[in-house]
Amino acid sequence: MPTESMNVNELTSEEILRNLDTIKENINKACSKTGRDPKEVTICAVSKLKPVEDIRVAMTSGQQLFGENYVQELVSKYEILGNSAEWHMIGHLQKNKVKYIIDKVSLIHSVDSISLAEQINKEAGKYDIIMDVLLEVNIAGEESKWGFTADETEDAAREIGALPHIRVCGLMTSAPYTEDAETNRIHFRNLKNLFDKLKEDHYPGVEPAILSMGMTGDYVVAVEEGSTMVRVGTGIFGERDYSHK
Ligand SMILES: *Cc1c(COP(=O)(O)O)cnc(C)c1O
Repeated sequence: MPTESMNVNELTSEEILRNLDTIKENINKACSKTGRDPKEVTICAVSKLKPVEDIRVAMTSGQQLFGENYVQELVSKYEILGNSAEWHMIGHLQKNKVKYIIDKVSLIHSVDSISLAEQINKEAGKYDIIMDVLLEVNIAGEESKWGFTADETEDAAREIGALPHIRVCGLMTSAPYTEDAETNRIHFRNLKNLFDKLKEDHYPGVEPAILSMGMTGDYVVAVEEGSTMVRVGTGIFGERDYSHK
């Protein structure tokens, strides 16, 4: 990669705040188009690889919820901002790192195996808490993606919901990368159908209320298809610099 492409411009405070407004407007439009209440949709601002200052800027406009992908980064931001913000873990989580975040996040979006859920259950037990989680679903069946297949998801939910220190609050997916968000509509629709089925299953410990789908490139389509939580990073904070990752 040429060095120039690694120089990512930091956005100004004004730009970040304007971006947040634009996203809220787009969510409102998608909701009115489909007869939904915009209050049903929460923005999880994905702040990975972005400085604490950017998070502080977003917080001045009332944005409270931030999503992080990397355990160490989440912990160091938590050490600075603590519970003045609400933190979600949205990235792939290794079992040996659960202990570092269990007391810092209010939701883990990325539960992609039974064994990870068992580890979360064990660590949550040490604090005597019930950890809220989403099951990550590889809804498009991509080879490179983490997550349960659509066929595995209900069984996984039943098994994980039975763990005493976990509540399964819904489903999450990262749809395929695409230039044309419309191509992901079918995947969002399929996940929504799975979410609705899960609601009807009434498994103990499974209370599906959150459908986490839609990122910068496709959140409007995701909201039209029933998303209750969009995870938007680039669209708020600008391009990320992965050169140190
Ligand atoms: C990085 C990331 C996002 C945000 O992606 P953008 O395209 O920058 O909005 C959302 N979800 C997950 C799981 C991510 O890793």
